[in-house]
Amino acid sequence: MLTTLRNIVQEVSSASDLQVALQIIVQRVRDAMKTEVCSVYLYDPENTSYTLMASEGLNASSVGQVTLAHCEGLVGQVGLREEPINLENAATHPNFHYIRETGEERFTSFLGVPIIHQRKNLGVLVVQQVEQRRFGEHEEAFLITMSAQLAGVIAHAQATGSINNVSSARRVVRFRGSAGATGVAIGDAVVITPPADLGAVPEQVCQDTDSEIALLDSALTSVRKELKETSKRLADRLPAEERALFDVYLRMLDDHALGQEIRERIRSGSWAQGALRQVIDKHIRNFEMMDDHYLRERAADVRDLGRRVLSYLQQGEQAQVRYPQKTILISEELSPVMLGEVPQDALAGLVSVRGSSNSHVAILARALGVPTVMGAVDLPFHKLAGKKLIVDGNLGLVYSNPAQELLDYYAEVFEEENQFSKGLEAIRDLPCETPDNYRIPLWVNTGLMTDTIRSLDRGAEGVGLYRTEVPFMVRDRFPSESEQEKIYRHQLEAFAPRPVTMRTLDIGGDKSLNYFPIKEDNPFLGWRGIRVTLDHPEIFLAQVRAMLKASVGLDNLRIMLPMISSIFEVEEAQHLIRRAHAEVLAEGLPVVMPPVGVMVEVPAAVYIVRNLARRVDFLSIGSNDLIQYLLAVDRNNPRVSDLYHSFHPAVLYALQKVVNDAHQEGKTVSICGEMAGDPAAAVLLMAIGFDMLSMSAVNLLKVKWVLRRIGMARAKEILAELLKHDSAQVIHNSLELALCKEGVGKVLGIKSRRFSQV
Ligand code: PEP
Ligand code: MG
Repeated sequence: MLTTLRNIVQEVSSASDLQVALQIIVQRVRDAMKTEVCSVYLYDPENTSYTLMASEGLNASSVGQVTLAHCEGLVGQVGLREEPINLENAATHPNFHYIRETGEERFTSFLGVPIIHQRKNLGVLVVQQVEQRRFGEHEEAFLITMSAQLAGVIAHAQATGSINNVSSARRVVRFRGSAGATGVAIGDAVVITPPADLGAVPEQVCQDTDSEIALLDSALTSVRKELKETSKRLADRLPAEERALFDVYLRMLDDHALGQEIRERIRSGSWAQGALRQVIDKHIRNFEMMDDHYLRERAADVRDLGRRVLSYLQQGEQAQVRYPQKTILISEELSPVMLGEVPQDALAGLVSVRGSSNSHVAILARALGVPTVMGAVDLPFHKLAGKKLIVDGNLGLVYSNPAQELLDYYAEVFEEENQFSKGLEAIRDLPCETPDNYRIPLWVNTGLMTDTIRSLDRGAEGVGLYRTEVPFMVRDRFPSESEQEKIYRHQLEAFAPRPVTMRTLDIGGDKSLNYFPIKEDNPFLGWRGIRVTLDHPEIFLAQVRAMLKASVGLDNLRIMLPMISSIFEVEEAQHLIRRAHAEVLAEGLPVVMPPVGVMVEVPAAVYIVRNLARRVDFLSIGSNDLIQYLLAVDRNNPRVSDLYHSFHPAVLYALQKVVNDAHQEGKTVSICGEMAGDPAAAVLLMAIGFDMLSMSAVNLLKVKWVLRRIGMARAKEILAELLKHDSAQVIHNSLELALCKEGVGKVLGIKSRRFSQV
């Protein structure tokens, strides 16, 4: 049964369009269940009706013609009740509705199951038989399993297929992905196909080893040249730190890495193209098998490099692409190199069918400020070339064939965002002070050099979180102590005399290093953050020494420990920090001992805040992790993203408890998760009593703008009102309503969210 299921799903998944997919379903399911009829009725939410879309067994002429209202007939009942109906004699059921055109009067027994995808009713799958009998338990289970597995495939085929109907109907089609980089863009699609197809390379025996190796070397040289040129082209847009990524690619191609492996395979008898394919496939497989999101995404980088080398091996240099003025670059799998090939002023937006916000291309897009949607899995990208598109990087949506009304609407959002951002410049140097004179400092989160530049530009008062893992991630080995010292010095100097909170290496979970893979079944509950570095004191000590040395004469360093769940970890880490301090002093450097703080991002830490606070100088809530652990919702899993709620009452109570307890011990407490950068949430956080908010620089001026308009007294009233509710959604909606009444609605992105519900 499992094999049959798997085969059918595989066959349906590779169908060229929706109609073919449905036809395969009805044929294969009828055969597998040995019934006389199998039909699929799809539900159209616009007309609230079902249409018979495919059938094996009913009159062919009725397919596409027969429709049923949403509650009509047995099909309507299955959809309405969202559960199977299994009848030995369908005609005796009170909801039976006879449709002459189908010729179904011959079939007595009926089994219908709903097709449900992400809580939405897509339609009903039906089998029928002449013999009067009730379908058995196993048959029912088979059809339910089939339907559950097919739902995703049908949803995908529906989304993909609908693009064809769109041009005639001029109906807007919306595709959902995830937000890769914020902002909205309207432009013309340029679809980039990979330079060459590795999968199509046949195995061939090498005739002349030397000439195949020469061919390979020349291809590698050409790709290296291409990478260097792209990196150079990005030089005035991206700081050196981010461009280091291209050095990693270059090193991957170098003679001792992939180049060497390919050469060995040529020597053992394969031609160059085949050897390249084998090596690239092996590396892709290795990366794809990893649990870690970041490492899995690296498979895309290797695949892109492989294709580039292959295109030179096949003598086909990349065709010259013409980029319109507002290019929306689309590919099945965008790569940083593709991004770098677009002229600077032409790139308006990015859409990638594969990948996530962890992909390198998304990281670069954020650094460049290009609105981006990642993981738009249903996007029929190959049909979009030249089409007008809207990219909503705030909500992770792509609209194709937008009607004039939607275009005007998004043009307005774009203009407003632009105007608003320009208008915000005026408050850059003003303090974040409420109308009733409450002062709350706004700090920034940094990691990329671009963040630093942007932060200074926006008047940040300090760094609440410097993610030190970022410079670790863009390399292919641990940075040395002196390399780290240089990077940290740069960061500390850029902000001096403002304080810079450097978090010690926080890897594991969804962040890891390709040169230090961590393979675990449950990485978020595994070896992460402080747990890794306490087990590797040599890494921790080198990092802390580098931080301390970098701070000489500036004295604006603060050290922060991630993922703390016990006092023991704090004591151990403090012991190591004191040791590093003593070592640096022994080297003759006049280093002052910096304040040391902890992140509260694990529920255990919430309950021991007073104990923690007694031992450290400051606390900071990492709300991204704290929310995922409190609510038991993986922060990167799109299936449960609707359950990830910053405004869940449990979250608000936890935040309040941490602030109260830390203050009882006379220690400051900040918050540095994404929540702090949400202008609506910031109002509540201020009311809860946080001493400062630390956020991405992109949001800083918006948050300041809102807080300068809402008094602390009013914020406290709003908080008290909201805490009377017990539902996250109600709290969120009531907060937005309250803020709209206060006249700050325009910064909440409510406008574009409204349209996204359409
Ligand atoms: C957090 O968890 O809120 C946080 C700031 O850390 P990161 O997002 O880097 O895990
Ligand atoms: Mg965290």
